[in-house]
Amino acid sequence: MLQILNGNVVRSQILAELMPRVRRLRRRPGLAVVLVGHDPASEIYVRGKIKACGELGIHSEKLTPPDTVTTEELLAIIKELNERTEIDGILVQMPLPKHVDARRILEAVAPDKDPDGFHPVNVGNLVAGRPAPRACTPAGIIEMLKYYRVPIEGRRAVVLGRSDIVGKPMALMLLQENATVMICHSRTPDPAEECYRADILIAAIGRPALVTGEFIAPGAVVIDVGQNRVTDRRIAEGIGKLEEFDRKGSVLVGDVHPIDVMHSASAYTPVPGGVGPLTIAMLMSNTVALAEQHQCSG
Ligand code: NAP
Repeated sequence: MLQILNGNVVRSQILAELMPRVRRLRRRPGLAVVLVGHDPASEIYVRGKIKACGELGIHSEKLTPPDTVTTEELLAIIKELNERTEIDGILVQMPLPKHVDARRILEAVAPDKDPDGFHPVNVGNLVAGRPAPRACTPAGIIEMLKYYRVPIEGRRAVVLGRSDIVGKPMALMLLQENATVMICHSRTPDPAEECYRADILIAAIGRPALVTGEFIAPGAVVIDVGQNRVTDRRIAEGIGKLEEFDRKGSVLVGDVHPIDVMHSASAYTPVPGGVGPLTIAMLMSNTVALAEQHQCSG
């Protein structure tokens, strides 16, 4: 029987567990979100993050410098936020305009105010197995696997994709859970062959429905991180989403072929409604943990 791994259920549980922790704090946790310019997708993501803060009683601030902002001006904004004691987390929404040095900006955020877990110090902490904020999407996937009692220890996990925000931290987190881990990327000669060996397959490549039946071993647990907006009618037809496409003019498609996966996997995350809801939940979790840490050290 194919099991659907529902991200909304896991998200609700994560948020419910955070509420009493927020209430126990002497002051409300504070999250500052820096949104440069008016990228429509970024505006939607930021709205979702601020809404989640509101649901949990986390104080949030949105800073909206224009897209003409310079690296130096942004660095000054981050410096000020680093110094404010009522701000526990600083989130710089990506992507930044091309003329801004994104690496310098991300590295300017104090490691103990980094709810995204992107700062090199926190990446190093992850590698070393030390407690620290962890990249939200892979951390949410680990929560989901645990929620649904998917065994990780001793299983073969293949991570398709090696980005800094998903693939690499995902592989490290699975390793920490004692999986045997392989990472595939665009230079892997035969990714389908490698993926077919996986008990747990994580697809994070940003290629609509590329992971077809030949990638998925019978009984595999398949986690689809992809969020691809498809405007090509033929692709929508090939994955059985023509009716939705004709209604909306586009469809959201994962990296995994949604029909093929049903024939072989034992469990999978649908798109939408699988991995997507977990990222913001883990952002909240990291922010609350940082506030607890600041309370202890303050
Ligand atoms: P990314 O930075 O573009 O990285 C894509 C990775 O996939 C790269 O490592 C690339 O290899 C690899 N790749 C690309 N094509 C491949 C192919 N044909 N075969 C094997 N490997 C291939 O993407 P990302 O930021 O990790 O995001 C991946 C997907 O997850 C996107 O659809 C994104 O929208 C989605 N996403 C969802 C969430 C969420 O649900 N909350 C969060 C983050 C991302 P190279 O390194 O060799 O180029």
